[in-house]
Amino acid sequence: CGIVGYNGVLDAKEILLKGLEKLEYRGYDSAGIAVRNDDGVTIFKEKGRIADLRTAVNDEVDASIGIGHTRWATHGVPNKLNAHPHQSETGRFTLVHNGVIENYHLLQRAYLKGIQMQSDTDTEVIVQLIDLFAREGLSTVEAFRKTLSLVHGSYALALLDQEDADTIYVAKNKSPLLVGVGDGFNVVASDAMAMLQVTDQYIELRDKEIVLVHKDKVEITTLDGRVINRKPFKAELDA
Ligand code: GLU
Repeated sequence: CGIVGYNGVLDAKEILLKGLEKLEYRGYDSAGIAVRNDDGVTIFKEKGRIADLRTAVNDEVDASIGIGHTRWATHGVPNKLNAHPHQSETGRFTLVHNGVIENYHLLQRAYLKGIQMQSDTDTEVIVQLIDLFAREGLSTVEAFRKTLSLVHGSYALALLDQEDADTIYVAKNKSPLLVGVGDGFNVVASDAMAMLQVTDQYIELRDKEIVLVHKDKVEITTLDGRVINRKPFKAELDA
């Protein structure tokens, strides 16, 4: 399973699909991408191979920011409905997740009683919580922060906000995730190999850091808001 993200100027779908192909070796049962442009967020997902996803993607959707996922199902059978990305009830937030949310059922009962869940995944609780806290008046980064402070388990996350054209919100805990930096673009990947197609400069992330991946900068803070400055390293090219 794996995650990719791209925020730049080129066609995001092609970069995301290529990145997911590079992550196929990790194993998966379904895959999906979400891209955002002025018309909103468009999701394509399929059970089965990246090749099937590629066929399902509409070439006419032109976008330069997006996230992608290969799923190894832990909660909910492998099917199209449970494939990521997942969207909140209002459609504002779109999320991909690798890992397991151990207390998802508890969180669902405590906070999301009135929400009609759309999948059987543990993941959906995260995106619904972020939307709930945003509706209660928090900014996206505050809602993300609050949600992560409630969640127990392992995660690599990449989130899109329909109302924000220039940010991928990222965090990890006990699951791998890197941010790649480029000139006029930045990327996200579980494994540098997925995005060597566009950059070999990567920033390591620590558990529970909140990362804002913009086109022209990357902002890292700790869960309690301390600003982190960390230099990128050069990823070795595989033969
Ligand atoms: N627990 C999530 C699910 O079952 C994510 C699985 C994964 O790591 O791909 O959908």
